[in-house]
Amino acid sequence: MEDFNRTIGFKRRILVVDDEEINREILGNILNETYDVSYAEDGQKALEMMREKNADFSLVLLDLLMPVTDGFSVLDEMQKEDALKQIPVIVMTSEKSAEVKSIKHGAYDFITKPYDMPEVILARCERIIELNEDKSIIRAAEKDELTGLYTREFFFEYIHRYEHVTGEQKMDAVVLNIEHFHMINEMYGRETGDEVLCSTASTLKELFEKETFIASRPDADYFYLYMSHRENYEGVFDGLQEELSHLTQLPRIRFRIGVSQDVDKTLPAENRFDHAKLACDHIRGDYTRQLSYYNKEDNDRELYGERLINDMEDAIRNGDFVVFYQPKFNIQTKEPHLRSAEALIRWRHPELGMVSPGAFIPLFESNGLIQKLDRYVWSEAAAQIRKWKETYGITIPVSVNVSRIDIYDPELENRLAGLVEQNGLSAEDLMLEITESAYADNAKGLIEVVNHLRDRGFKIEMDDFGSGYSSLNMLTTIPIDVLKLDMKFVRNMHKDEKSLKLVELIIDIAKFFGVPLVAEGVEDEAQFKTLKEMGCDVIQGYYFSKPIPAEEFETFVKEEKKRRE
Ligand code: C2E
Ligand code: CA
Ligand code: CA
Repeated sequence: MEDFNRTIGFKRRILVVDDEEINREILGNILNETYDVSYAEDGQKALEMMREKNADFSLVLLDLLMPVTDGFSVLDEMQKEDALKQIPVIVMTSEKSAEVKSIKHGAYDFITKPYDMPEVILARCERIIELNEDKSIIRAAEKDELTGLYTREFFFEYIHRYEHVTGEQKMDAVVLNIEHFHMINEMYGRETGDEVLCSTASTLKELFEKETFIASRPDADYFYLYMSHRENYEGVFDGLQEELSHLTQLPRIRFRIGVSQDVDKTLPAENRFDHAKLACDHIRGDYTRQLSYYNKEDNDRELYGERLINDMEDAIRNGDFVVFYQPKFNIQTKEPHLRSAEALIRWRHPELGMVSPGAFIPLFESNGLIQKLDRYVWSEAAAQIRKWKETYGITIPVSVNVSRIDIYDPELENRLAGLVEQNGLSAEDLMLEITESAYADNAKGLIEVVNHLRDRGFKIEMDDFGSGYSSLNMLTTIPIDVLKLDMKFVRNMHKDEKSLKLVELIIDIAKFFGVPLVAEGVEDEAQFKTLKEMGCDVIQGYYFSKPIPAEEFETFVKEEKKRRE
């Protein structure tokens, strides 16, 4: 028991109920060293104290003869309340006859007055507490056999049980994991592995023995520590690293440490550690970082991402994804006129509202979901071209975005050709935008695919040109039909000379290769005029229109129809 109190870092709580001060004092002196003792001078007060939030008494020592509410009434009241029924009671009495009666009223044991042997009293208290705790945590083993730290169940249970001690105190949840522990097992044998775990446990206990601290090994090479709050964990575990190398004679053993500071005590203990574990797992394999703090914003962002991934398929089925169209204007004629459109996806999430492509496209690109979405957009766009053609008698070509992962789809060509055919279009009506960085990823494979697509009549636009990967050399080997200038050049065109020069240069390059140049992200008249003067062919941007729903876009189609007549 003493060993328990030492390792757990705080004392169990006992309530002494007696109307005579001298009795309270005597018992207090006997118990004080081992327990955290509270006192009540009458039965009513005692019940109130037991009902307090986080009271967590491990034992009640109860005098039977008291004015107002006597010991028997306290016992009866306790039997009526679930939480209080769990607390074991030892009655203190000088009458033999009262013993049997009090046991019948729910007491566990009795101590006879006057108190003589302090050891006997202490031993009885210990035994009753132990018995009661064994009963309440059935079967589960308290300690991990290997390291002597608490097992998962006990650990969380104790955190709750000692809330009365830590209640006021800020506490941190820390998760520690040994990096590549399985390698230690494989290279040096299981015994050495066990030694590392044991040394870790004993060193941790030593390091923090002077503070409120409780530790567990819930799982293989994970250690959970519940400890007093610290602002900064930099260097706190350095001692552990050194001591371990010393104890085990192994080359540097690395730890990953995740910390959730000032935990939310309204959460169950287990959840307080979920956060620390998240932080710990977040830096797995990152050799530049050993310590990571749980951060609500990071976590929320991750959860948000997971939510989007989860909801994606349903959203396609429910029609929550909508394709918007942004016009591209020819500007080298006397009056600018509609040339084509770009299809851009929008997500009208029923609960999250409008979700921007910037939030979900990169996410879906990283896990492959983007293919499904792209196919949806392509088929919507193809159907839209047909609709406008049927309604207005003119064809407005629409560009769709093709993700790098689509390039690896062996059915890509057939899929696109199928859409064109189903809608009675020609291949050049459905233009394909491929971002420049995809070319850098897999130049050879991409050139092959692009060549096949062009053989079938599709027009290829290189998107985001100049965003960082392109080299002039690449342009000589890659077959493309349109260059789309990366937006950042236009944005900075009037802010720095270099961007302006680069725009000029890229316009020249496009001329040299004989392909039209599209400038996107054109927002104002100044940008528009400069680009026109420099010889840029096509413009896309808020200056003309934001991406808009198909119905709204019809205004542009009608205008263009009029112009052609
Ligand atoms: P992107 O292909 O470079 O598309 C151009 C982006 O610039 C669009 O953002 C468009 O709304 C925005 N934009 C157009 N004009 C202006 C302007 O004047 N000022 C500013 N500030 N922005 C302008 P959006 O729609 O948010 O799309 C972002 C990116 O998401 C796209 O960049 C594209 O890479 C991706 N994306 C959008 N729809 C799809 C899709 O259906 N499939 C795939 N694979 N990617 C898509
Ligand atoms: Ca694009
Ligand atoms: Ca772009």
